[in-house]
Amino acid sequence: MWGLIYVQIVRIHAKRAFTPTKIPGADYVINQYIGCQHACMYCYARFMCKWYNYGEWGSWIVVKENLPKLVKKEKVKGEVYMSSVSDPYQPIEKQLELTRAVLQNMDKNIKLGILTKSSMVLRDIDVFKQFKDIEIGLTVNNFNKDIKKEIEPFSSDNKKRLEALKVLHEEGIKNYAFVSPIIPGLTDVEKLIKESRSFTDFYWFEFLNLRASGKQFKQWLKQNWPESYKKVSDKSKIKEYMNKVIDIIRKSNISVRGIVTHYPNFVILK
Ligand code: SF4
Repeated sequence: MWGLIYVQIVRIHAKRAFTPTKIPGADYVINQYIGCQHACMYCYARFMCKWYNYGEWGSWIVVKENLPKLVKKEKVKGEVYMSSVSDPYQPIEKQLELTRAVLQNMDKNIKLGILTKSSMVLRDIDVFKQFKDIEIGLTVNNFNKDIKKEIEPFSSDNKKRLEALKVLHEEGIKNYAFVSPIIPGLTDVEKLIKESRSFTDFYWFEFLNLRASGKQFKQWLKQNWPESYKKVSDKSKIKEYMNKVIDIIRKSNISVRGIVTHYPNFVILK
């Protein structure tokens, strides 16, 4: 179903680098790219296609080429999250090095959190070390090979993401595992914790947001994993499942920054 997608690059000049956000745990977001070549089928940022009418999610990227300059001039107080509608280390970054340039020019006193699904993040360890307060997160999940090929076709595989967390830890950079999306029958949270706890500073957990995951993903889940679909689309069943997983998390004795449930609210544990 998924081949290598031709990617349309749209170069723009942005008006500002940092945007205020209501994303839990952050005051501002920074997106040097809009759009993402990783093309995850469930991506919650797909809604951007409404404003950027360039085709299917994953087939275009808006590149804010003046962001390295802008970021030099803008000062912000609070926590900055990179990125909310793109992955800062999607494949095009290897060629453009835009994320790297933005980081190099950014005020190193900014409290920065970066989240990615790519082991390319390790390239910028030298720049991360210049920041006073930085946290680097890798999204991890243990979808099997066939599932990953269908719903997360172009990101690093889970093993590489775990290895990246380990390297960051060994390099003395604060890291976190973002366990997401948690889907009954597809994600084994207990196994992920076991595999990562010795080199992970803290965790975020996020259950699937079915509503934001889009029609195509809903259809895919319904057809291929009908039992999982039944659970996630039934409020009492999903609540029961969440309670079981939250219980596993609580008993694991790990540091948890938050658990995002989406039904109906957001839970923070500190
Ligand atoms: S890596 Fe993140 S931003 Fe990119 S497609 Fe996947 S979920 Fe969306």
